[in-house]
Amino acid sequence: MLGIILKKHNIPCVVFEKYNTVSEYGAGISISPNGLKILEELNLLNKLKMVSANPFKTNFYSNSSMITSIPVDVVTTSRQSLYKVLLDEYLSLQGDILFDHELIDINLSKKTLSFLNNINITVAHIAACDGIKSLCRDKSFINNQSPIYSGYSVWRSIINTNQKDINFYLGSHYHAVTYPINDSQLSFVAALKNNKNNSESWKEKGNFDDIKSELPSFLLDKYLISEHKNHLYKWGVYTRPKINDLFKENITFLGDAAHPIVPFIGQGGCLALEDAYIFGNLIKEFKYDFLKIQNLYKSLRLKRIRKIQKASMNQARLNHTNNNTLITIRNMMMRYTNIISYRTKNIWQYDAVKIINKIIS
Ligand SMILES: Cc1cc2nc3c(=O)[nH]c(=O)nc-3n(C[C@H](O)[C@H](O)[C@H](O)COP(=O)(O)OP(=O)(O)OC[C@H]3O[C@@H](n4cnc5c(N)ncnc54)[C@H](O)[C@@H]3O)c2cc1C
Repeated sequence: MLGIILKKHNIPCVVFEKYNTVSEYGAGISISPNGLKILEELNLLNKLKMVSANPFKTNFYSNSSMITSIPVDVVTTSRQSLYKVLLDEYLSLQGDILFDHELIDINLSKKTLSFLNNINITVAHIAACDGIKSLCRDKSFINNQSPIYSGYSVWRSIINTNQKDINFYLGSHYHAVTYPINDSQLSFVAALKNNKNNSESWKEKGNFDDIKSELPSFLLDKYLISEHKNHLYKWGVYTRPKINDLFKENITFLGDAAHPIVPFIGQGGCLALEDAYIFGNLIKEFKYDFLKIQNLYKSLRLKRIRKIQKASMNQARLNHTNNNTLITIRNMMMRYTNIISYRTKNIWQYDAVKIINKIIS
């Protein structure tokens, strides 16, 4: 996304990617209105919709009993489809991307990047978008602390079946979300509270016997998990210390590299789109005055990021409570008040396009 914005404004840039291709590893992603506004502004929303799903409502269940149903306006898709729409656009703007370039070191004062393939490149500025296990963050902040297991693990798979809505299941030790990613497949994600230290790996396969012992059978049967047992993945959710800075010297952090987030309100990817839109447009507006750009970027983003990080952790606690009184109150509030719409609206109404328009007008 940052590459697209920079290329649109004729600002030279290169994307370095450690893998040699874009892979899927059984994952979906839901883009809420705050992310959709940016895609629309860049004329990418229709392209994404053509290869995605556009569910109109979310059904909430307490185990298998329906609590309530609310209208939504999100696009649910596979990561591969989202990456492909962005990559195609970037390439159509003659954007440079160098695959097979794994960053292994940075010299911040010399602005030099060193890659595993023995290539060293000196640049004007580094935008660190290297995800949750950011090497850039490790190299920039000396006291960067190790991640801590959050007590939650997440099962995920892509299931070959057709579903129109988003379904959200709340149990005492788990919650699960399923949504269509296109006409014939859905994303299955189930988070569990447990003490098993699962590894934080996108590629770690899960075992069918484990999922059988961890999730209720109605859910496994409904989503044909036994038929997809070779396509189950398990991810340990880790927390990282609060980030106070979004930049240091000649490097600016975006997305998970800037603000690792637990995945319980589906906002990490949307925040990354917001970061890219705002940072890219600030570069356009203030040319190469990076100190000004970095300070403005921080002042525009930090409050928003903190709010989402907190909301995401609180959501996990609310979803996984096993106190019966609290469960009854939570379910009653979901059924009889508009608390869900209020909470989501609060997060989804953020408008990065409007914020930038205000700055440049
Ligand atoms: C189970 C789960 C469900 C989620 N669901 C949602 C959702 O529904 N909606 C949502 O908005 N968010 C969701 N998220 C969060 C979202 O996936 C992330 O926040 C988002 O992918 C962050 O984007 P990013 O570009 O910062 O990092 P990434 O997507 O991780 O991209 C980082 C890129 O950098 C590359 N890279 C890493 N290290 C190096 C290196 N040393 N050298 C070169 N390249 C490197 C990687 O290969 C990768 O291509 C979910 C996360 C999880 C775990």
